[in-house]
Amino acid sequence: MQKYSDRVNRLSFSQTFVMSNKVREMKARGIDVISLTLGEPDFDVPDNIKEAAFDAINSNFSHYSPVPGFLDLREAICEKLQRDNNLEYLPSQICVSNGAKQAILNVLATVINDGNEVILPAPFWVSYDEMVKMMGGTSVFVETSIETDFKMTAEQLEKAITPKTKVLMYSSPCNPSGSFYRHEELEQIANVVAKYPQITIISDEIYEYINYDGKHTSIAEFPQVYEQTAVINGMSKAFAMTGWRIGYSACPDWLAKGCEKIQGQMTSGANTMAQKASVTALKTDPSKYRYMIEEFRKRRDLVYGLMKEIPGFRVNYPEAAFYFFPDISHYIGKTLNGTLINDADDFAMFLLDHAHVGAVGGVSFGNPDCIRFSYAASEKDLKEAMRRIKECLEKF
Ligand code: PMP
Ligand code: GLU
Repeated sequence: MQKYSDRVNRLSFSQTFVMSNKVREMKARGIDVISLTLGEPDFDVPDNIKEAAFDAINSNFSHYSPVPGFLDLREAICEKLQRDNNLEYLPSQICVSNGAKQAILNVLATVINDGNEVILPAPFWVSYDEMVKMMGGTSVFVETSIETDFKMTAEQLEKAITPKTKVLMYSSPCNPSGSFYRHEELEQIANVVAKYPQITIISDEIYEYINYDGKHTSIAEFPQVYEQTAVINGMSKAFAMTGWRIGYSACPDWLAKGCEKIQGQMTSGANTMAQKASVTALKTDPSKYRYMIEEFRKRRDLVYGLMKEIPGFRVNYPEAAFYFFPDISHYIGKTLNGTLINDADDFAMFLLDHAHVGAVGGVSFGNPDCIRFSYAASEKDLKEAMRRIKECLEKF
């Protein structure tokens, strides 16, 4: 009798894909559902990036690339890190992967042993805890709430550190809260981590460009933790290239070697045409792609105004990324249309069934009181979704 491994039994399906698949099934049955589930830009890939991919195909870039990526792409990444983040890396410190997802897994696989602890400020992106489980580690959650803009303090971090702590992992800007850590906040966190040289920071900066109100800071900019930090970034969000699957890590040498070793046995170098197109994307002045961010900003303001009017929703003002993460604890423990709402996942199912709006409950993001809405959708859909939710909840 064949059986699942313990590893697979430990894992859950990614909740973002679970909810987006439910929406897809309902749409296939002819139901008019608005999906605010998956976090992916709804823009097309900019033409100059597409042209670069066609050129790569026509120039026969069809063979294996080096495992950590073509040298010109790693050089372009180093230039980007210097230009945007004032960070110095050599191409040998970069590993280009199949999305930021694989870049994170590479780093975890390089540093985690069974039983090691990974500190995750909650809420966190759904895949973090699952990736930790996949690698045999244990997540240690640091609770935050809407009152503190969902951000962990340096004191909270220090309390969570034990002799088993190997990694601190967070995204800034944050999926799902839309918050981002300011320079001073990161400096305090860096000062704590620097006292524990066994800790690696996985700094997921995939939403770096989608930041409306402030300057992005990478924790690697603080020299006291440069040697302890893996910077994660990629093409998915900044260039609307989610399906092209290019992400990367920038690490100290020994970590970069570990990532290359893992990836070389797992998947090899990432897709060659997408790598070549990424060189063009990264070398282009970021202002060329700014129109997407300005569009997200308009939608953020639109949704903020409408969501505040929804009964029982407590809403933060997200300054970055493209998510709202309202606290809906008002509804927890209540019975709505005969359905008992035990947590935010039940509430997300309720909204899907009764308002025909898809969102993702906060349980797998580490916060069962909140629900995530992606506003990477058209203004028309966003207005209609907020109208439907309001109308549905006004009855209760
Ligand atoms: N980190 C965060 C915080 C994300 O939201 C995502 C989702 N795309 C990823 C990493 C993975 O991105 P990629 O498409 O590059 O694998
Ligand atoms: N990161 C996106 C999200 O959070 C895409 C889905 C995923 O990779 O989980 O919705």
